[in-house]
Amino acid sequence: MSGVEMARVSKRFGDVLVIDDVSLEVQLGEFIVFLGPSGCGKSTLLRMIAGLETVDDGTIYIGEQRVDTMPPGERDVAMVFQHYALYPHMTIRENLAFGLTNRRVPADEIAKRIEAAASSLEIEEFLERRPGQLSGGQRQRAAIARAIVKQPSLFLFDEPLSNLDAALRARTRIELAQLHQQLGTTMVFVTHDQVEAMTLADRIVVLNNHRIEQIGTPMEIYRRPATKFVAGFVGTPK
Ligand code: ADP
Ligand code: MG
Repeated sequence: MSGVEMARVSKRFGDVLVIDDVSLEVQLGEFIVFLGPSGCGKSTLLRMIAGLETVDDGTIYIGEQRVDTMPPGERDVAMVFQHYALYPHMTIRENLAFGLTNRRVPADEIAKRIEAAASSLEIEEFLERRPGQLSGGQRQRAAIARAIVKQPSLFLFDEPLSNLDAALRARTRIELAQLHQQLGTTMVFVTHDQVEAMTLADRIVVLNNHRIEQIGTPMEIYRRPATKFVAGFVGTPK
């Protein structure tokens, strides 16, 4: 069984082909990074896995479950966005509890999960505040905590560090790596930042022009870029 399997997936917006025949297999427990320039289709790929975009052609499996025909709410995933996407009128605690109440997780179990996630992301003191009363970094930690409490079999991250300043970005990057080590859950992480990809990924999927250019470990991509584009994009010294 794989973490995620995409087979011959394509997607159009109107007449424009934005995902062109993408196939890939993510191993169970793997940290995979989709790396590529702005507009190449990274977010669309991730959103199709989450069910936030429909798939025109091809199939997507999460574990043994075919999900491309399944409503987003039934997919066993949690997604973290660049702009946090927290409900502004709810406290952080309510934001974290929201998806779980819907899934009929018992109240004492919800409280336990929130406590554990808040402690590991050091946001305990912000739980009764609303997102508007937090800094960008604190909001992103709350958004990551909200993903964790769902205990999904797959985490999806869409440029979650892009809005943070350099110091906070480095710190949060390390915390995400630790989180992956601790949970062992499959993670798909989208970025245009080569350093993030190189430091976080078990394997990198390099995308360009709506297609896969290369899939490999950071070392493989760095040492043996398959195309001119990859060589230029990961900055291999000549
Ligand atoms: P990336 O995340 O790599 O920057 P996206 O997946 O957001 O790229 O977008 C891929 C392409 O699809 C871009 O050309 C973008 O303009 C286009 N696109 C994305 N979403 C939509 C949409 N809802 N309607 C029309 N075009 C879209
Ligand atoms: Mg994007």
